[in-house]
Amino acid sequence: MNYFSTRNKSLKFSFKDIFLRGLAPGGGLFLPTKIKKYNKEDLNILSHLNYNELASEIIFNFCPNEIKKNELSSLIQKSYNCFKNKEVVNLKKIGDINLLELYHGPTLAFKDIAMQVIGNMYDHLQVAKNKTVNIVVATSGDTGSAAIAALSNRKNINLFVLHPHNKISNIQRKIMTTIGGANIFNMAIEGSFDDCQKIVKELFNEDSFRARINMSGVNSINWARIVCQIVYYFYSFFKLKKKNISFSVPTGNFGDIYAGYVAKKMGLPINKLIVATNKNDILQRVINTGEYKPDTVKPTITPSMDIQVASNFERLLYYILDENDTKVGSLMNDLSSKNLFNLEKKEIDKIKEDFKAAKVTDEETLNIINEMYKEHKFIIDPHTATGVGAAKSFKNLGDIVVLGTAHPYKFSDTIKKAIGKNLDSPEHLKLNIDKKETFDIINNSSLEVKKYILSKI
Ligand SMILES: *Cc1c(COP(=O)(O)O)cnc(C)c1O
Repeated sequence: MNYFSTRNKSLKFSFKDIFLRGLAPGGGLFLPTKIKKYNKEDLNILSHLNYNELASEIIFNFCPNEIKKNELSSLIQKSYNCFKNKEVVNLKKIGDINLLELYHGPTLAFKDIAMQVIGNMYDHLQVAKNKTVNIVVATSGDTGSAAIAALSNRKNINLFVLHPHNKISNIQRKIMTTIGGANIFNMAIEGSFDDCQKIVKELFNEDSFRARINMSGVNSINWARIVCQIVYYFYSFFKLKKKNISFSVPTGNFGDIYAGYVAKKMGLPINKLIVATNKNDILQRVINTGEYKPDTVKPTITPSMDIQVASNFERLLYYILDENDTKVGSLMNDLSSKNLFNLEKKEIDKIKEDFKAAKVTDEETLNIINEMYKEHKFIIDPHTATGVGAAKSFKNLGDIVVLGTAHPYKFSDTIKKAIGKNLDSPEHLKLNIDKKETFDIINNSSLEVKKYILSKI
């Protein structure tokens, strides 16, 4: 089982390589040379497994040379022990919405599901055995806390987390800056999430710096994260026991929904994948018009989706452009030199075979939270609400599963605004509200970030 770069097919990597590197040399993203395709009989067998068994089956396809099946099973078991739900996720019917709650992990966001596994993989693959690994990650709020929960106090691992200063929710920041051990460093960057992501990409592309600090990444461009997220598409599809199922996914960096695309490639007969965006609607625009043109980031009440450069979209492009790596590289060059690229009609049509997209404004999001509470006494977080909103624009599609990406408590201020109620902290969140927050405010500059990292290691 090999991996290659979306911008250069001739480069070959092992799972361990791509796990450690995150980003391919020259800036491309990693994809596997082969994606396992299940037939009807296989799917029938898989449909009888519990969540952990299903996770072992699916994830094993992507790392068969590095991790033995039985070791992977226990790694997964260990990773999901800390979840409130034995089955990790929870599928609920609320009115005519099928809600897949993905937020019962230690930091109340779907990102825990991949990050807990990744944390244990760092140990299992022994990547930090001889030399300390320094992980650098950009976050729009939730990746950071999930990574901290997964990597705090691990041996020979430091974690540097860049979040956009004052642009994440108070609870998001509070979790991130209070739960970590001495190996965790929080940096509040004076810029947007896109700035944070750009800095991290720059550091990865600088070979000498990357080698010097033995740098690794856990952003959603890390293939291992996508792999872990494929599992819940299968799981909920089987649970719902319907024929024609689409998924509505609150989307930022295009990682979570891309996992659904891979699930479909693996033979799961998903109908459509619905991209829900907020005002930062680059993905809605590219899917509906073919123009990929990042705008400046506008702050919204769904900060984890305040992203204009949706990195994982490159992984879709690779297949849309008929696996032509040179063409992917050339569009990505256009993006960095002209700040846009355009897709041809046949390419847009190809995207539309699998994807739909809808934009949901802040006002609509607040209304959805309010209606959901009034009609069903059920509280959803603003990100999940965009998924509900997008699903409502595609009622003709039949059954839709909305991915619930965060627990409402993480966005209490917005919930208060929508329904006039304060929320209690969920029991399994081990948050010490009075604990002093530790983070440093850093200029929006890769040079400053490098200096900071070097001063801490
Ligand atoms: C990260 C995140 C998203 C966006 O997921 P992507 O994989 O970046 O598209 C949506 N909602 C919440 C709550 C998130 O934390």
